[in-house]
Amino acid sequence: MKVAMIGAGYVGLVSGACFSEFGHEVICVDVDPSKIGRLEKGDIPIFEPGLEQLVEKNVQAGRLSFTTDLAAAVGPAEAVFIAVGTPSRRGGGEADLSYVHQAARDIAAASGGRKVVVTKSTVPVGTGAAVRRILAEANPAVEFHVVSNPEFLREGAAIEDFMRPNRVVCGVDSEHARQIMRELYRPLFLNETPIVFTTLESSELIKYAANCFLATKITFINEMADLCEKVGADVQAVARGIGLDKRIGNLFLHPGPGFGGSCFPKDIRALAATAENHGAPLRIVDAVNDVNESRKKAMADKIARALDDDLAGRTVAILGVTFKPNTDDMRESPSLAIVPALQRAGAAIRAYDPEGMEEAAKLLDGVTWCEDAYDAMEGADAVAILTEWNIFRALDLDRVKKLLKRPVMVDLRNIYTLDEMRAAGFRYVSIGRSEIR
Ligand code: NAD
Repeated sequence: MKVAMIGAGYVGLVSGACFSEFGHEVICVDVDPSKIGRLEKGDIPIFEPGLEQLVEKNVQAGRLSFTTDLAAAVGPAEAVFIAVGTPSRRGGGEADLSYVHQAARDIAAASGGRKVVVTKSTVPVGTGAAVRRILAEANPAVEFHVVSNPEFLREGAAIEDFMRPNRVVCGVDSEHARQIMRELYRPLFLNETPIVFTTLESSELIKYAANCFLATKITFINEMADLCEKVGADVQAVARGIGLDKRIGNLFLHPGPGFGGSCFPKDIRALAATAENHGAPLRIVDAVNDVNESRKKAMADKIARALDDDLAGRTVAILGVTFKPNTDDMRESPSLAIVPALQRAGAAIRAYDPEGMEEAAKLLDGVTWCEDAYDAMEGADAVAILTEWNIFRALDLDRVKKLLKRPVMVDLRNIYTLDEMRAAGFRYVSIGRSEIR
């Protein structure tokens, strides 16, 4: 099937590459000429494990190509995906749909025959209906079918998630749209992946409800971690103890510095705004947002406490700045709250991240970016682990001790055990566990 993918960001590029791997002929379109220029040269603008090889293979097979010419891609396509950004609107929590609406107008203008227009971007309830209106008004001569097909992939495991999803959700408004979606996801049908066909509205809400539920789970265990610290319990044991209950499940029960990334924070704000606008406020979702925002800031205080609340003239080594490992995505990363707070308290920052430094350097001022983890720790008063990259899990603790002025580690991801840190002779502060002094 011929497919046009509008927006070649994380979701568009991964989805486009995966659909081409399924055997479809995909053209990815982006308004950013530098992005398309790099892709045409085989240079992948984002870090995502396995993506480079997948793109190269399908480009060579003639099934995947890139262009800035939307009309040329949309003209022959049977299915057109909208995978543009839906950031929070400035000054409010609502999703900014201007890119989605623009894409719909562009698609309408470029369409000559029947088209299925699929929204892959995360969009508030009612957007599919609005897209249908825009298409019909802009080009009444064409038969448009509108689909909501939200994406659940995780950055860092995006290809695996796309190829082997727990489920695919399709909100459809016609039998033709259903057939096209079946055909697009054929390899997954054959794999017996559950495909949930529903209405546009339910599909749009499924995406937000899923993200908000997951964010609630994280926030729940984060607050439990705070309580554990006060009462002498160990949050790892609590998480395991509750997670073995199948009704709860053991995933997303890992405490940390608060969630970030390009999706959870903005999706929570957007769902809260939708609910407010419809007179059905979601108090749990509001609380998750508030708790998470204040948590990120509180993490700087935790690091300060490990240095006896005296950061003036001190140097803190920061390991990891991205919001999670295996990505270079810095959007709403806890490091963006933590690092400036440490600097305001007088600390100098030496930092290292395997993939995030280029992006982080644009967002964080006054940081000394280092060659590797050990370089960052050289002469620092303490080290703080903000992101659980694998290479930080097996640091040579003797070497770390020699490099630091004082053996102080703040581990905001609980990647070391209390026993090993005690044996190694560190002052060790983690999340929801007792402190080693
Ligand atoms: P992104 O910012 O990485 O990519 C969006 C791309 O769209 C950009 O390259 C931009 O230049 C391009 N674009 C904007 N307007 C355009 C237009 N009119 N024509 C062509 N290209 C245009 O964003 P993303 O992370 O890929 O997210 C896209 C959507 O998918 C969002 O709604 C997001 O919430 C959702 N989503 C993201 C993830 C994720 O992990 N990143 C996961 C699931 C869902």
